[in-house]
Amino acid sequence: MQLKYPALFQQQCYINGQWLAGSEEEVITNPSNGEVIGHVPTMGQNEAEQCVDAAHKAFSEWKLTTADHRANVLRKWYELMVEHSDDLATILTLEQGKPFAEAKGEIAYAASFVQWYSEEARRAYGEMIPSHRPNGKIVVTKEPIGVVAAITPWNFPAAMITRKCAPAFAAGCAMVLKPAPETPFTALALAKLAEDAGLPKGLFNVVTGDAIAIGGVFTADKRVRKVSFTGSTNVGKILMNQSASTIKKMALELGGNAPFIVFDDADIDAAVEGAMIAKFRNAGQTCVCANRLFVHDAVYDQFAQKLAQKVKALKVGDGFADNVVIGPLINAGAVAKVQAHVEDAVAKGAEALCGAFAKDGELFVAPFVLTQMSDDMLVAQEETFGPLAPLFRFYDEAEVIERANNTESGLAAYLYTRSLGRAWRVGDALEVGMVGINEGLISTAAAPFGGVKESGLGREGSRHGMEEYLEMKYMFMGGLDQ
Ligand code: NAP
Repeated sequence: MQLKYPALFQQQCYINGQWLAGSEEEVITNPSNGEVIGHVPTMGQNEAEQCVDAAHKAFSEWKLTTADHRANVLRKWYELMVEHSDDLATILTLEQGKPFAEAKGEIAYAASFVQWYSEEARRAYGEMIPSHRPNGKIVVTKEPIGVVAAITPWNFPAAMITRKCAPAFAAGCAMVLKPAPETPFTALALAKLAEDAGLPKGLFNVVTGDAIAIGGVFTADKRVRKVSFTGSTNVGKILMNQSASTIKKMALELGGNAPFIVFDDADIDAAVEGAMIAKFRNAGQTCVCANRLFVHDAVYDQFAQKLAQKVKALKVGDGFADNVVIGPLINAGAVAKVQAHVEDAVAKGAEALCGAFAKDGELFVAPFVLTQMSDDMLVAQEETFGPLAPLFRFYDEAEVIERANNTESGLAAYLYTRSLGRAWRVGDALEVGMVGINEGLISTAAAPFGGVKESGLGREGSRHGMEEYLEMKYMFMGGLDQ
């Protein structure tokens, strides 16, 4: 691996400011070619406990620092991320597979959370409330919640970490993190830059290894006051159950099943562009990916033909090759899920306008566009998490709203129309946390990201993302007449 700053490639865990090896190791491979990239320690209960000890100690000091101090440390971390973005993107592409340009985009996005919360650190304002009694004062202050445990997925190995730890550190919290086993090196590189930026030892701890043992400590230890998880809905439910005995605050960013609705009055070319981004970014492996594309009968054939034409032109391959926009999927299970959704749909009458699977063992999938879809197909119920765009036909507004909402998920939705009234009416009626109106890319550090229903709890990004790491304390002072 050619890095300008080789120390970014760390094969040890970062606990209490120390880089630690383990007695056993996991092999990490490149999904593009199966080659070994490196190893990380297989750690478990003991090391997870060490992380919590270290974070608890660091918290007792960090919470007393000024907002200005925390802002400056975060600002330095942000600047280092920007300075080393080529190296970070190289590590990210190697372990996750996404094209290098897209990896650079993710690093910029990840860094933007650190920048945003370096500014927001200074704005954890409290409140004065008019008193209910004479000669008294009601004051509300904000306090950091304490030690936060984060568990993150592989699809955005950098951004899913910074959008948790940047607001946590800005608020005055400490963090213990278990990154996804597929993508530990990006997490460890971020920890190296955090160390360089001057984050005190123990404030940010990164442990790799046995998810069940580590997650067990994170959810059971009384000193951990919040669990912030991004990943599948099933694992989110397990962690919520495990956290119940110690009544932890939960942030859950879980799976989606986003509807993408194209009305007959839409700008079809803009809708096709939006669908390309909302569906095929990160090879379809994002939680806000369009999963069900509902297209009005009057524009269905036109939309299908234009979308298929663009999709056929997408170059699939290794993330470092020129002009590649679709990298490999993360593992064989991900490919199998796309295959199961395609086969199920075709068996029930769908037609594939394009798409193909690579030869055995390879993780490349040439993206699919399927037409003649029906609501009894698997893809209508489940998140595909891959490059498959299924086109469902609809006839009127009420019908499409009902079908769009007919899922346990409620993360993102997209709609394309030229009617102002319809845009707001449908936007209001969709049971989701985020809506893209005539827009396929909605993620930004400035806005609250999160879902409703089984897509989760809480928001990340914006000033609301900072509130998640703060507790309110109400103080009443009486006797002001004395
Ligand atoms: P996942 O299987 O739920 O895994 C996520 C993380 O949880 C991994 O680090 C995993 O480690 C860990 N984990 C699994 N079981 C655990 C347990 N019992 N205790 C503690 N940790 C445990 O999800 P994924 O397949 O990596 O990610 C894809 C999912 O994430 C999709 O459903 C996607 O929609 C969702 N996602 C949501 C958002 C959002 O913001 N809403 C963003 C990105 C992704 P191990 O692999 O070692 O078990």
